[in-house]
Amino acid sequence: MNTELLFYKDAYLKEVDATVLEVRGNAVVLDKTIFYAESGGQPGDRGYYGEYQVVDTQKDKDGAFLHILKKGSLPEVGACLKLSLDWDHRYKFMKEHSAQHLLSAVMFSFKGIGTVAVHQGEEILTIETSAEDIADDVLLSIEDIANEKIRDGLKIYQDEMSHEKAESLGMRRSIKVDGDVKVVFIENLDAVACGGVHVASTGEIKEVVYRGKEMIRGHVRTMWSCADESVAYRRNNERLLKECYKLLSADKDSIVKDIERIIKDNGDLSYEVKKLRKAVAEREFEDALQSSTAPVLAFITNNSVEDYQELVSKAGKDVLIIERDGKKGFLYFGTKEKFLKLKGEVSLKGGGKDVLFRGAYQGDAEEVLSISMRLLSE
Ligand SMILES: [Zn+2]
Repeated sequence: MNTELLFYKDAYLKEVDATVLEVRGNAVVLDKTIFYAESGGQPGDRGYYGEYQVVDTQKDKDGAFLHILKKGSLPEVGACLKLSLDWDHRYKFMKEHSAQHLLSAVMFSFKGIGTVAVHQGEEILTIETSAEDIADDVLLSIEDIANEKIRDGLKIYQDEMSHEKAESLGMRRSIKVDGDVKVVFIENLDAVACGGVHVASTGEIKEVVYRGKEMIRGHVRTMWSCADESVAYRRNNERLLKECYKLLSADKDSIVKDIERIIKDNGDLSYEVKKLRKAVAEREFEDALQSSTAPVLAFITNNSVEDYQELVSKAGKDVLIIERDGKKGFLYFGTKEKFLKLKGEVSLKGGGKDVLFRGAYQGDAEEVLSISMRLLSE
């Protein structure tokens, strides 16, 4: 299927009239196209073919460019309609793909680091490198050099040549196709075999920002944003920082110390609260035990039943503690047989083993307590 690939002649074409050569499923093959089909990590284009929405462009097994249409009616073979590109989508990924060429070129030329694999995301571009370790200052220096090359506005262009000629260029990455090869050049910096679509100048990338690294398959994978995504990332970081400064009445010199102090204070307070809760629970438990003459010690607490777990065995009799309405937890210390009896009569969810049972109840706390006391006293 011979579709003329116009984006190789002009990557900036946004509209063209094209004729349907074939319909395959819900996709059309056209006599010419400005839509790039997903390949090499660069997503397929989308847009419109006449009134039909093109949701994606993919290459079929035989290499045909499938313009995949939104499910519904289809144009007929021979129809000639206007193909129009979702330019914002294409241009964003064109810039990101070109940024990847630039970053990989800088890594290789200035730091001797190769590129193993790449992934283009909506916001983040990842480049898996050949290195087992790269220091952060090296990555920041790569960011600096790449931004310098962006400011220089270096020309990016593609040239189709014989395999032999391409081989003679000694490119940083081996050629993966047979026959003629499309080679993408960044003026005075890089040449690599690539069938993708690229911007015409590094200046269009606007800027790149280093976002972090992680280890994968024993290699360092680096993360970047470029163009509008880079600007958005920087501005969002600024905004978040300003919000933190305001919340903590801090500035750039004090914020880390302030957060460290808050974390420490919080730890100290949690420890104090735990101690106090334990003391309150002990007092409440003792008081209840002193005033109880019933064969079972049962009461409603404002505390958490958790606080009584270590105390219940001191009662010398069955214990049932119920949290006040709202929290709805219970703790029962007694026999499994009696617990099952309780479970059968009042609405309890939960369990335990041996002598300690925990969970949640449903209904009114006072009512659950009085029914339970009667059942446990029988
Ligand atoms: Zn490329």
